[in-house]
Amino acid sequence: MTSTEPGHAPAAVPAPPPSEAPAEVPDPARAGMRPTKQRRAVAVALAREDAFASAQQIHERLSREGEQVGLATVYRTLSALADAGEVDMMRTEGGEAIYRSCSPTHHHHLVCRSCGRTVEVEGPAVERWTTAIAEQHGYAEVSHTLEIFGTCPECR
Ligand SMILES: [Zn+2]
Ligand SMILES: [Zn+2]
Repeated sequence: MTSTEPGHAPAAVPAPPPSEAPAEVPDPARAGMRPTKQRRAVAVALAREDAFASAQQIHERLSREGEQVGLATVYRTLSALADAGEVDMMRTEGGEAIYRSCSPTHHHHLVCRSCGRTVEVEGPAVERWTTAIAEQHGYAEVSHTLEIFGTCPECR
């Protein structure tokens, strides 16, 4: 995951109400895309979600808010942002790609499989175990992904 500079919101994006202001908006320009109004709208919509969201869900949210952004643009923008490390991408148990604007440090996710509500969690024991097991087998440049799915307190 790339580190990001704080306070780098593009000037052309209309400011959301302060209560919904995202801490950090993923930047399409850092993903090598021309930062069009539509792509910025996708990035802003994702930054405002506190759950993982699919391209379909982001598209629906934008439509509700009167933003004219095609589903294909939403798919491509999210996918490029994920490739560039600007956002986190993972797959649901059903295989669907879902996205979230996350903190730039290494972490894992506790995801509600019903509503998508997501908590970023750390797992020091997991970090130690992956390092140890890789070393034991002589593997270098080790990385891992680990997501935990469950049913959140509100959906139980
Ligand atoms: Zn839930
Ligand atoms: Zn880890």
